Amino acid sequence: MTTFLPFALPDIGEDEINEVLDSLRSGWLTTGPKTKRFEENFAAFTGDGTEAIAVNSATAGLHLALEAVGIGPDDEVITTPYTFTATAEVVRYLGADPVFVDVDPATFNIDPNRIEAAITSRTKAIIPVHFAGLACDMDALMTIARKHALKVVEDAAHALPATCNGRMIGSLESDATVYSFYATKTITTGEGGMIVTRDPDVAKRCRIMRLHGISRDAFDRYTSTKPAWHYEVVAPGCKYNMTDIAASLGIHQLKKAWSFQKKREAMAARYDEAFHDVPVILPPKAPGGDIHAWHLYVIRLADDAPVSRDRFIELMAEKGVGCSVHFIPLHLHPYWRDRYSLKPEEFPNALKAYEHGVSLPLYTKMSDDDLQRVIDSVKEILG
Ligand SMILES: *Cc1c(COP(=O)(O)O)cnc(C)c1O
Repeated sequence: MTTFLPFALPDIGEDEINEVLDSLRSGWLTTGPKTKRFEENFAAFTGDGTEAIAVNSATAGLHLALEAVGIGPDDEVITTPYTFTATAEVVRYLGADPVFVDVDPATFNIDPNRIEAAITSRTKAIIPVHFAGLACDMDALMTIARKHALKVVEDAAHALPATCNGRMIGSLESDATVYSFYATKTITTGEGGMIVTRDPDVAKRCRIMRLHGISRDAFDRYTSTKPAWHYEVVAPGCKYNMTDIAASLGIHQLKKAWSFQKKREAMAARYDEAFHDVPVILPPKAPGGDIHAWHLYVIRLADDAPVSRDRFIELMAEKGVGCSVHFIPLHLHPYWRDRYSLKPEEFPNALKAYEHGVSLPLYTKMSDDDLQRVIDSVKEILG
């Protein structure tokens, strides 16, 4: 038996390692020149006049973005139950309530056709999640948002890089887009995140709130008439800044974002081809010409599959292949279920996706042999 193939692994090269060493030797450990460089490179990557604000997680970024667009106590924010808890928990940080809207059964993304029925006088924003790296139907979503004057903050934790109707996620008309650089994501800084926006007020507020509510204008050492030690606190901010050690990783990971995507796309295509005669539903493709980030490759076991989803994962583990499930829908977790009195059947598409879905390993460190091993294991179990 060969060694266990983990579900995910980061792809860190010598450039990242040397850049971290350079930071350690430089004396700049926390937010400094490398964080600034990473932000500039990131803004150029998403393009179209966007600004990028680096933070220490996507969770922090979502929190800051929602605060910056004005979400507060008793507001409602529409999102999907088919996501990680971070998407909804940040709404609670602000004293607001998430309102869940079921997903499209084909894409696992929030179903725009169900959004309007969930809008009330308290609704202030929508958080779409580009599940697995496949963009939501942003045209439909933005039309609804404009009609009802709702803010939109995109959870793009899976979507670097991805496009929607030929345009980069991050450069669309939403108020802000938030990326994750958690260790399993498409590029990583260990822990980290990025807020991208074209709205200077949102950018300014996020910059202030990510570091204790300290106004940069107030302590600009070059233009201020105040002494260098002086600063002004203008709000009860957070401690969400990115370190230069993390940014050292990000600078080099970002350079590889497109080559990583190409690799994942090719691997997904190999899976698709191998599984065409296996009782599974293959993951959805991006519509004509659009780019899927392929953060996750999620198959759904067909109703007539010979084993249950849980048993399938056990058998894969016995064959030395790590699988995962994305996601346990939020409405099944005790906190969300109990707080909002949610029933499993209330979101039938999310429930079914969860009951049948399995995420297979898909990361750039996998060799051809690793990929073949996953394919052979799936075929042995389901064939
Ligand atoms: C990973 C993830 C997050 C949180 O990212 P962190 O950087 O770990 O805070 C948020 N939303 C989704 C959909 C995720 O998968």
